[in-house]
Amino acid sequence: MHKTLLKNVQDIIRKFRIQEATGLNLSDAIVLLQDFIDLQAVNLLERRRFLQAKKRALILPHCSRKYMDSRCKAFFDASIPTYTCAHCSNDCLVNKAERLAKAKGYDVYVIPGGSCISKIFKTNQYEAVAGVACGEEIKLSVDALGNMNVAGQAIPLIKNGCANTVFNMETLVQTL
Ligand code: SF4
Ligand code: SF4
Repeated sequence: MHKTLLKNVQDIIRKFRIQEATGLNLSDAIVLLQDFIDLQAVNLLERRRFLQAKKRALILPHCSRKYMDSRCKAFFDASIPTYTCAHCSNDCLVNKAERLAKAKGYDVYVIPGGSCISKIFKTNQYEAVAGVACGEEIKLSVDALGNMNVAGQAIPLIKNGCANTVFNMETLVQTL
């Protein structure tokens, strides 16, 4: 079973030229794709519970802000903790995602790291959370949310690197 899955993953990597697109070596490309498959499986399993939840939050990574320096006018409140977007740039992904989610009734948090999630949950009880992050942060968050019995939907970054990161807005729209 495992050998068959591995062969299928390797075939997909070759077919879609994932190594060329990402610059990863074969073993890292396999890990990337397996993580993606695991993530989609969790999303599918949690989907019904997520859609039935009434109180939901969206968690965005601070690395997807257009600016990571003082040009970003967001206010950081360490007591929550979250950045609150000041809407300084219409083409900022965080700005767009925040507006979209708030219009759909979500509370929105823009956080500097996954450890902020447990702090947020100390003062707010959500039934469901959608989160945008890189693969490593998603893995940590899935474990944390599972322990809190919260339905999760993960949207992976399509460009990592802790600055100027990118996620797919269409995926976010469909998830929310
Ligand atoms: S739009 Fe918001 S998150 Fe983006 S750079 Fe401006 S204040 Fe920061
Ligand atoms: S790339 Fe991942 S670890 Fe780095 S800041 Fe963004 S979410 Fe956090």
